Amino acid sequence: MAAEAPLRFAVIGAGMSGILAAIKLQEAGLDDFTIYEKAERLGGTWRENTYPGIGCDVPSHLYSYSFAPNPEWSHRFSPGDEIQAYFEGVASRYGVEGRIRYGEEVSRCVFERGRWRLETKSGLRDEADVVIAATGVLHHPNLPGIAGLDRFEGALFHSARWDHGVRLDGRRVGIIGTGSTAVQIVSALVDRVAGLSLFQRTAQWIMPQENPVYSDAEKSGFRQHPEQMRQLHGDLSKLFAQGFSNAVVDAGSPQMQMIEDACRANLESSVRDPVLREKLRPSYRAACKRLIISPDFYQAIQKPNAQLVIEGIDRVEGGGVRTRDGRLHELDVLVLATGFRVDRFVRPMHVVGQRGQQLDERWSKRPDAYLSISVPGFPNFFMLNGPNGPVGNFSLIEVAELQMAYILQLVEQLRSGRCRMLSPREESTTRFEADREEAARRTVWSTGCRSWYLDDRGIPAVWPWTFDRFREEMARPKLEAWTLEG
Ligand SMILES: Cc1cc2nc3c(=O)[nH]c(=O)nc-3n(C[C@H](O)[C@H](O)[C@H](O)COP(=O)(O)OP(=O)(O)OC[C@H]3O[C@@H](n4cnc5c(N)ncnc54)[C@H](O)[C@@H]3O)c2cc1C
Repeated sequence: MAAEAPLRFAVIGAGMSGILAAIKLQEAGLDDFTIYEKAERLGGTWRENTYPGIGCDVPSHLYSYSFAPNPEWSHRFSPGDEIQAYFEGVASRYGVEGRIRYGEEVSRCVFERGRWRLETKSGLRDEADVVIAATGVLHHPNLPGIAGLDRFEGALFHSARWDHGVRLDGRRVGIIGTGSTAVQIVSALVDRVAGLSLFQRTAQWIMPQENPVYSDAEKSGFRQHPEQMRQLHGDLSKLFAQGFSNAVVDAGSPQMQMIEDACRANLESSVRDPVLREKLRPSYRAACKRLIISPDFYQAIQKPNAQLVIEGIDRVEGGGVRTRDGRLHELDVLVLATGFRVDRFVRPMHVVGQRGQQLDERWSKRPDAYLSISVPGFPNFFMLNGPNGPVGNFSLIEVAELQMAYILQLVEQLRSGRCRMLSPREESTTRFEADREEAARRTVWSTGCRSWYLDDRGIPAVWPWTFDRFREEMARPKLEAWTLEG
């Protein structure tokens, strides 16, 4: 059977993954696509998170598309606005920026008579043979259920909705949360504010990491010899795969021990006051929660105007935060650095597959997907950075690139006319999930901490094997795991 018309694609989301999908479709000669983006600007995470101190915590020359190295990165770990500008620059240079329909949130995606029918909130309709959902992971802010939040009389916002109209200098600022975001905010704000209170529920291990600038000579070298950046990207990728990704999936490995030793030495050598040091000492293993990388958090939290509050929040009142010991911490600004609802993925989009199957129903307990890419009964619907994929302290760009290369090989089955519909077999998905869960129990994420990696049963909802295994799995689809129809 020959394909009658060129395949039409809908890419949902214009963050790092959606831009990547569009560039790769174009490169493969699959030119009939539209990118739907609900916001008025591309960039996803890097458009939404503009808090003071934001930066990536994997090296910038690794947190770049492999095909678009950037000689202009200012630092080893560059700030958020540079990352946003990078994605905007790449989208424009590769000619995909003009393919984005901004302000269009896809609200429904229904599979009917062999095609996906999409509808946006504004009522726009489209049809596509293939959907690539690049709707993000760390996207829906998680608002804590703390009593009295609505009663606070100062300025209150989530870290991903930073209100730049609020004056911070010389004021009393409270931060709830101790993840990577909170740590970056503390370091950036401590010298600007009158008082900084960090409300800690769980102490965090901090991996020390300097963040040097790239000199003009280094940048010029990169410009003249782009192969140096490619080399650096490759070297960093290997380093992260071997040194970190492989360590976390084997809690007893020597690499894991090295990470733990580095974190412990950082705490011992950086925090002078023994009482504060114990407050900052986690009671679980390093990297059980997402490891925090910071050159200066311990220095910041020891400044005289900084205060680490571990008493637990009882409620928020008009004037500040009341802790369980009865004390009121008076504040002008309260920041919720409380992370994201990480189990949402393509939701709240309403997705209906074959035989009226609803994704909401299938995912009512928790999301699943074969290899984190696709769900049985939802043909030609592929996700980038979907459920249970690799997350951790490495580049999600690399993850998305590998996933996209895998998806394009599946699409080739459609383009060549071998079939019209592709979805993973139910048995493959069940087996994958069972193996994944079993392996996840042996990872460092299962060693006894509360973290956003854990699902409702306490099982890490992540890729639990080495990064090399992920690479191998993504290199070539095993078609026997898929149903090819039509
Ligand atoms: C503060 C912070 C720091 C991070 N640091 C790192 C790091 O150092 N290294 C790393 O690898 N990763 C990091 N991440 C993870 C980061 O999310 C990914 O690296 C990457 O940016 C994800 O890109 P994405 O395109 O998959 O998703 P997103 O960037 O979330 O983009 C999704 C896009 O889809 C749009 N969208 C969603 N639903 C719809 C819909 N129904 N219709 C239309 N549009 C829709 C959204 O508006 C958004 O623009 C960080 C995340 C955060 C929050």
